[in-house]
Amino acid sequence: MLTNEQREKLIARAIDAYHRAYAPYSDYSVGAAVLTKSGEVYDGVNVENAVYPLTLCAERVAIFKAVSEGEREFSALAVVTRNGGTPCGSCRQVMAEFARDMLVLVADLEGKVVGEYTVEDLLPDAFGNADLDEALP
Ligand SMILES: [Zn+2]
Repeated sequence: MLTNEQREKLIARAIDAYHRAYAPYSDYSVGAAVLTKSGEVYDGVNVENAVYPLTLCAERVAIFKAVSEGEREFSALAVVTRNGGTPCGSCRQVMAEFARDMLVLVADLEGKVVGEYTVEDLLPDAFGNADLDEALP
């Protein structure tokens, strides 16, 4: 459970990151910040490319930064867009890999929370490592 102060700080980090997004093609900037269970915060922005499919979302950039620093457990993720857009399907799957019970706060640029979910809400019955174990001979 996050305190109001933790929620506000996480959203503030995502808003801060939003302004560093690299989105010259869509002009749809996204900022994200993920809070680890160890108390660290990693932020991310969407990074687009002239070869469009190479674009990576802010949520995955934040999570991959954290994972590359050795983090594996997450409490909450805030994502900020100008209109409160929700995470895409690919990001939901990446979130489910690490933390199905993670809180996901969707906010606008003013920091107003327009949606609040768990990863399980966003991607029920996600495919995961347990499914692979069952598939092994
Ligand atoms: Zn995404």
